[in-house]
Amino acid sequence: MPSPFFNPGTTSSADQLAILHLRRDALVPTILRTHDDEEEGYDEGKVVNTRFGSFPHTTLINQPWGSQIIASDVNTGKRSRTKGKRKAAALADGGDDTTTSNAATAASPKAASSGFIHILPPTPESWTSALPHRTQVVYTPDYSYILHRLRAAPGRTVIEAGAGSGSFTHAAARAVFNGYASHEPAHKKQKTRFGKVCSFEFHATRATKVQEELKQHGLEDVVRVTHRDVYNDGFLLPNDASTEKSSPKANAIFLDLPAPWLALKHLTRHPTDGTESPLDPSSAVRICTFSPCMEQVQKTISVLRQQGWLQISMVEVLHRRIEVRREIVGLETEGVRRAMVYPRSVDEAVGKLRVVEGRLKEFQKAQKEAAEAAAAAATANGEAVPIKADELGEQHIKTEESDGQQQSNNQSKQKSSQVPSYEMGRLVHRTEPDLKTHTSYLVFAVLPRAWSAEDERKAREQWPSRP
Ligand code: SAM
Repeated sequence: MPSPFFNPGTTSSADQLAILHLRRDALVPTILRTHDDEEEGYDEGKVVNTRFGSFPHTTLINQPWGSQIIASDVNTGKRSRTKGKRKAAALADGGDDTTTSNAATAASPKAASSGFIHILPPTPESWTSALPHRTQVVYTPDYSYILHRLRAAPGRTVIEAGAGSGSFTHAAARAVFNGYASHEPAHKKQKTRFGKVCSFEFHATRATKVQEELKQHGLEDVVRVTHRDVYNDGFLLPNDASTEKSSPKANAIFLDLPAPWLALKHLTRHPTDGTESPLDPSSAVRICTFSPCMEQVQKTISVLRQQGWLQISMVEVLHRRIEVRREIVGLETEGVRRAMVYPRSVDEAVGKLRVVEGRLKEFQKAQKEAAEAAAAAATANGEAVPIKADELGEQHIKTEESDGQQQSNNQSKQKSSQVPSYEMGRLVHRTEPDLKTHTSYLVFAVLPRAWSAEDERKAREQWPSRP
């Protein structure tokens, strides 16, 4: 079955991974099941319970991707189960909690009391946001840049260590994958034209877990996970048929390890222990190491230099989400709005403010005079005295409060929809203050392709006039 990461089809289907989008930054991964007796990892049941309501898997299967799903009225007759491990998978931002439970009975969608979610196909990006964290992970802004700099493209081979929670692994798998042709079995294509990811992890439980997930996600043909301490034992692949190891012939390497410099001795063209090189002899090899501290960066760069790596550089990806909105400075009357749009200098802004103040005073004076005239006329005619102009504002506010926030919002929306956008204030851009900025320092380097006497001879034949 093709991986839903590569070919999700148009609708969700049973026994496949789906991502439930609760709200921004609140995503839950779920393998959709029609039955309720599964015991596997982060998702075992048939109903996903969220703070937005309960969502039986039966309401999530065969839905066009992107559909909005309304919470259901679930009468299980059983207590919903909440275990620590599933709580751990719950969403970190703001304590969103999701649990799974078994529903013995069919559930009916019900719009009223609860909320809704959206069902999305899995992508490396949504998996990174939703995955169960077993370690620190590499996030999308970093891995998209890293894969680009490593030139991880279809047909290439990437070495990754360690696998950790498998965040980078999924993105790398997509980068090297070429797409299945319907007439050719996947294993055959992989041997011929497919790229692969050779992932190493020395923590046994993590290695097993990431392997299981990759299988569930249909990525086992593209990613090979090896349980290995790469500092001591390097990057050659265990050969199933014998004890001999074979070279992955990697073109790209990503090391997310506490001490990447200790692994570099294995990443040479001619390992000193006489073993085969894990690198592709016919191409340049690109490496990236991911380290949070400058001391680690210095040690890595020092060993890279000694081993002949070139074009060494360091990058820090500072990802910020930008909030963009309009901001009106000043008071909310038509005249004020007109006067406040786009001052080009401080003097102009001050001048405009003066105009605004003058207009406001004139407006208030005219209102007061009109109210007083109306009151005088009413008194003369023996009628009730109308509300004074300066009391009008207060009354208006009271009405809005009593009718609730909704009315107030509607009014302001209505008001703003009548105002052309260029009069709605200056467009301001702000970064979210709470976003953490430093993830790690990325060290990049290139090892030129191996060049033998035979290569030299061929090159001279091909380009005889070259020096
Ligand atoms: N890049 C991963 C991701 O995006 O999910 C996270 C990697 S995590 C920060 C680092 C991993 O390196 C840990 O899982 C750790 O067990 C593994 N590790 C540490 N030393 C190792 C070694 N010598 N050989 C293989 N893996 C190692």
